[in-house]
Amino acid sequence: MRQSQLFTKTVKELPKDETSYNAQALIRAGFIDKVGAGIYSYLPLGKRVIDKICGVIREEMAAAEGQEILMTALIPKENLVTTDRWAAFDVLFRLSGQDQKEYALGATHEEIVSPLAKKFILSYKDLPFSVYQIQTKFRNEKRAKAGLLRGREFLMKDMYSFHTDQQDLDAYYEKATAAYWRVFARLGLQDTTYFTYASGGSFSKYSHEFQTLAESGEDLIYVCEDCRVAVNREIIAEQDTCPQCGNKKLVEKKAIETGNIFKLGTRFSAPFGLKYKDNTGKEQPVIMGCYGMGPSRIMGALVEIFHDDKGIVWPAAIAPFAVQLLSLGADEEALKIYKDLQEAGIEVLYDDRDISAGAKFADADLIGCPYRVVVSQKTVAADSVEFKERAAADSSMIKIKDLKKNLLTRLGRS
Ligand SMILES: [Zn+2]
Repeated sequence: MRQSQLFTKTVKELPKDETSYNAQALIRAGFIDKVGAGIYSYLPLGKRVIDKICGVIREEMAAAEGQEILMTALIPKENLVTTDRWAAFDVLFRLSGQDQKEYALGATHEEIVSPLAKKFILSYKDLPFSVYQIQTKFRNEKRAKAGLLRGREFLMKDMYSFHTDQQDLDAYYEKATAAYWRVFARLGLQDTTYFTYASGGSFSKYSHEFQTLAESGEDLIYVCEDCRVAVNREIIAEQDTCPQCGNKKLVEKKAIETGNIFKLGTRFSAPFGLKYKDNTGKEQPVIMGCYGMGPSRIMGALVEIFHDDKGIVWPAAIAPFAVQLLSLGADEEALKIYKDLQEAGIEVLYDDRDISAGAKFADADLIGCPYRVVVSQKTVAADSVEFKERAAADSSMIKIKDLKKNLLTRLGRS
């Protein structure tokens, strides 16, 4: 894409009430726009990033046999009354329709997916299966000061699995956990994310959170450095040793909850009468699990973790573009390189704007694409470009004829 065609620009003036680093950086670099506290629009650069995060999640949920659906954002009151959550859920946005009925804007979808599954589950032969969606969710948070880390409106991947018995749920829970680790690995978060024990409710001793270490995190976790697991703040009082090895020296760390998985048992299947006939024809309750992951929160977490004093440093897998190409008075050569790289399927943001070199360098650092390529009269005279990794301190010269191959190798595509 030509940067001159991008309708957004980098922003100098930040909203005064924006105190979180992730939102400040994303607004400044032109990825998102703030509409209100905890409410953000995604602009072209931001939409590319969030789509890539969702793409990684989709591939890994599909690998865990998740079938993608899209459920309603409006949830009828009676569905939430059925599970006793209409009154109890304190962050629900409640509204009324012209049909005199009341609705909630979806904050979670057990109340839609359970009656949906009931329409298709008759016997044990219809089980197991899992469905997921990536959808905008709404929570009427009192405080929404953490940018994309805690929105009133945010993207959520929620998956629900349905089973004949606890053993089958337990096996699938392991499979979903493995899928989550593949997502974190692809996003470059595997070393900073901890499988964290949390309170489980009536059907299992624990649920689990995926907590990603960050100084700006709103959660405190207690890490066992031997097992690389943690317990969360809620359960540290009753579980003050490592649940896996009994280690008593747990280390307190700040973290961002980037995923959570939960064995629901019959918590939602029972109120909706979600049952199946076993192989003797006897009715049995369906056992459920749920698996949440927040793409927009992950985007905020990535910015909190991967940045320096000049701006964002995106991991290659989810950067808006692989390459930012800067023309410094060598438009003809730069255009040739732009077209050549694009034809090779390399995503390039080509800064063809008529602005100062300093402004182009500053914007490139702010936006944070993994590779910066500078073309000037001086580099062209040497048949070369100046090449710099966003994360590296130094640049080097690369021959123009070698650039494409070099990039394809770096992107793992040669
Ligand atoms: Zn341990």
